[in-house]
Amino acid sequence: MNNHEEALTQGLSFSYQDERFADLQLLRYRVDGFETLSLRQKTLVWHLSEAALWGRDILWDQNGRYNLSIRHLLEHIYKHYQGDRECQSFKQFEIYLKRVWFSNGIHHHYATDKFQPEFSREYLTILINETGASSLCDETLLNVIFDPRLYAKRVNQSQGEDLLLTSACNYYEEGITQAEAEAYYDEQKQKGDRRHPVMFGMNSQLVRNEQGKLEERVWKEDGMYGEAIRHIISHLESAIPYAENEKQKEVIRTLIDFYRTGDLATFDLYTIRWIQETEGIIDFTNGFTEVYGDPLGLKASWEGYVNFTDQEKTQRTERMSAEAQWFEDHSPVDSRFKKAACRGVSAKVIKAAMLGGDLYPSSAIGINLPNSNWVRAEYGSKSVTIGNLTEAYDKAAHGNGFREEFVIDENTLQNINSYGDVCDDLHTDLHECLGHGSGKLLPGVDPDALKAYGSTIEEARADLFALYYLADQKLVDLHLTPNAEAYQSAYYTYLMNGLMTQLVRIEPGNNIEEAHMRNRALIAHWVLDHYPTAATLVKQQTDESSSGSKTESKTFLRIDDYSLLRTAFAELLAEIQRIKSEGDLQAAEHLVETYGVKVDKALHEEVLTRYRALNLAPYKGFINPRYEVERDTEGKITDVIPHYDETFAQQMLRYGEEYRSL
Ligand code: ZN
Repeated sequence: MNNHEEALTQGLSFSYQDERFADLQLLRYRVDGFETLSLRQKTLVWHLSEAALWGRDILWDQNGRYNLSIRHLLEHIYKHYQGDRECQSFKQFEIYLKRVWFSNGIHHHYATDKFQPEFSREYLTILINETGASSLCDETLLNVIFDPRLYAKRVNQSQGEDLLLTSACNYYEEGITQAEAEAYYDEQKQKGDRRHPVMFGMNSQLVRNEQGKLEERVWKEDGMYGEAIRHIISHLESAIPYAENEKQKEVIRTLIDFYRTGDLATFDLYTIRWIQETEGIIDFTNGFTEVYGDPLGLKASWEGYVNFTDQEKTQRTERMSAEAQWFEDHSPVDSRFKKAACRGVSAKVIKAAMLGGDLYPSSAIGINLPNSNWVRAEYGSKSVTIGNLTEAYDKAAHGNGFREEFVIDENTLQNINSYGDVCDDLHTDLHECLGHGSGKLLPGVDPDALKAYGSTIEEARADLFALYYLADQKLVDLHLTPNAEAYQSAYYTYLMNGLMTQLVRIEPGNNIEEAHMRNRALIAHWVLDHYPTAATLVKQQTDESSSGSKTESKTFLRIDDYSLLRTAFAELLAEIQRIKSEGDLQAAEHLVETYGVKVDKALHEEVLTRYRALNLAPYKGFINPRYEVERDTEGKITDVIPHYDETFAQQMLRYGEEYRSL
């Protein structure tokens, strides 16, 4: 069912989609524009990319204490087994290994439940014996793989249970209770600098020493994970001479300093210098970053990525931001709620050149760092959209049957296929660069007046601002939209999503909870309720030739009047801005509860059935490009060339060999 998008690149055929297995789909992303970087910049990217790959084993160990041993065992078998590789059991073994690779461990990367192998313990024992791998395995390891009760969940968040004793992540030595760990870190916080608190515990494992007292094993050059960290440091050092400016050199030096000492104040200093370096085209993060993998939210998983600015797309957001005041002045909201001096936010659009650690293979498409609250408050943050990953998602979505299933007719579908991607990107830009920054509160209004409804109303405000302006001649004049009709594709997909297709992420019987989803439902249902002549849901008979001569009735969105739809968005934007500016909690509650929360059970069931029939993978991840380095006779780098020729398994096996440190 995979419909491959193909293009020619450097003589090799390129496909955005690679393998599909279990609930996963592997995609490739392109680093177009890399060839236009200078040799110096390419060399910098390469050294930083190596540093981003060398931390891989750290994450595997953080995710669970047996992950690396299990990976070494499975890879040995996969490489050396000479028997029947086509039988059902071996196929199941292969899927298990690929799922472990994808998750950087034996637990699902998102749900965090342990994988249950679909092959038997006896079969694995045969594979071990036939490949001479018995030294790589013992009873404990087999129990960890096969006993569903052992290490069942990587991150347990269930209230009322001891979150550490019931979580399999490796941030706390086994047997340390939640109460003990919390007491340990509370005490540290008491002693620390209250105004500029470091992120206590983020770069260490908490263990019990011989006297039974708790202490930290710090992740640093001569500490825990030192073997991996020394490789990272060495590539960071090699990168310094190729840095684009002095500030960038200081950023890398400060990071090395942090890896050497493990000192958390140095880490904060590194992030401050990183925020302040805005001149370079190349940027990167490398280190202990996000805390989602620790049930207590203290310990940071290792991640690394390297990127360069997508100058064309960033110009687009800058062109928009430069006109921020024009957009503010012409918006359909009451002038009392408008900003007199409006500044757009410049969010950079970047291209990922390498993904590593906790950003690989599953990756975020937007990143905002650092995470320290006081650093953000005093120095701000950097926000990026990773354009080439979004592009890969878009390309993979073409022809997967989703639009064909849910879009009402051929004309609408063609419009979406032609302009959908460009308008989606524009919608995101308008939302981020202008929407959130527009408007003002009336004097004396509490910013938290809308309480639990605040974030839904805020997202609705930014979305409506974007929807309203997508149809504006101004965007055509700014050469942001290709023509005056392109916006119709975004209007259709936005409403279709809010009314129907976003429901695929909701379990049957549940309401909508997440703020962005609530906001989309709110806008879509409000518009249908108030402007039925602009848009409506209809039932259509479709031929089900596969199941005989039966016809099936399916629900579709039908848009009859796009310009009236724009009027509807304008009216709702004005009202939502009023609610925000005046802090009208009652009106916010009424709007959200009436239009944004409830799910039509019959429609939900229908959408789920239609989605399931498409057999799409709910989770996606990325294969990295492979960089080939050309050198002259003295060993000096003369060029760096990206290739897209590895399969998922090839890349995993290569990483396992080339970047094995722990
Ligand atoms: Zn937003």
